[in-house]
Amino acid sequence: MILSHKENLGFLPTPFQKLNQLSKLYPDYNIYIKRDDQTGLATGGNKTRKLEYLIYEALKSGSNTVITAGAQQSNHCRQTVAACASKDLECHLLLGGTEPAVYDGNLLLSHLLGAKIHFTGENRKGEDIEQIKIELENQGKKVYVVPYGGSNITGVLGYVNAVKEIKNQLDEAQIKMDYVFFASSSGGTQAGLALGKMKFDIEFKLMPISIDKESINGHTIQELVFDLVNEGKEKLNLKNAFNFEDGKLITGYDKLGYGVVSENEKDAIKELAANEGILLDPVYSGRAFYGMIDFLRQHKLPKNANVLFWHTGGLPSIFYYKDKIK
Ligand SMILES: *Cc1c(COP(=O)(O)O)cnc(C)c1O
Repeated sequence: MILSHKENLGFLPTPFQKLNQLSKLYPDYNIYIKRDDQTGLATGGNKTRKLEYLIYEALKSGSNTVITAGAQQSNHCRQTVAACASKDLECHLLLGGTEPAVYDGNLLLSHLLGAKIHFTGENRKGEDIEQIKIELENQGKKVYVVPYGGSNITGVLGYVNAVKEIKNQLDEAQIKMDYVFFASSSGGTQAGLALGKMKFDIEFKLMPISIDKESINGHTIQELVFDLVNEGKEKLNLKNAFNFEDGKLITGYDKLGYGVVSENEKDAIKELAANEGILLDPVYSGRAFYGMIDFLRQHKLPKNANVLFWHTGGLPSIFYYKDKIK
């Protein structure tokens, strides 16, 4: 069974909790959280679940070097380097922009974790991976490529499996979840949750908040989600029909662009921190959490709905954006 083809890298299952103070603040709703900010790999985040499958594949293929790509404040890159460090793999990161004078947030952590960093200017979504791969192979290295955001079908299996985990937790608490909000950016988390719903036969509405309005190598996030779901259906031998609603993204909170922090993200971070003692990041989880509380404030969901915020991590970038979120 392919769902068991993984390395154990994460602290799983992650906690499932009720947000009591927040539920008092929005008394028409019961609000819960899934703590994937606590998955491990150098402070946690959603990439851990994907990396369990990706690193398994890297080791199985006999590779000794891993390449991946992202922004300088990429959580995905920081978590990939941490995973590689624990498995004695050399890790090359292709990060957008030019080298800053001071390393901060995720960039600092990636450096400390031993990454070999290449600054790639305009390209922050892995456009240069093939070229660097060839250079490393010419040096005799056996290279495994982890795609942008870890979002190929291998990485997606992490979130298919996560649905089994939440299903067990919901069954145990005897709760039926109605809505699941989360940040969607390279589409892997969303595709995994959509496939997991089909595989483990559980119903809740996915509420993927779009983080990045730009496409990835010419494909919209929605296209990537649909492709991954179709590939996953075949791989997991799923016969049920895909609910097309699960492939859509909620846009409108991404208008300022990726990594541009506004009052909205600041508002969301402060609200969850001060009411529940839980920290969000300004780029992903803060933006997604703002999307959720905007739905609640505007009463866009039916009264008494059970609402889950799936926390995807990202804490280190708070320190990079310190002057925007004070
Ligand atoms: C990567 C990331 C996401 C987005 O997940 P995708 O699977 O790429 O859509 C959300 N939150 C955080 C903190 C992330 O690092």
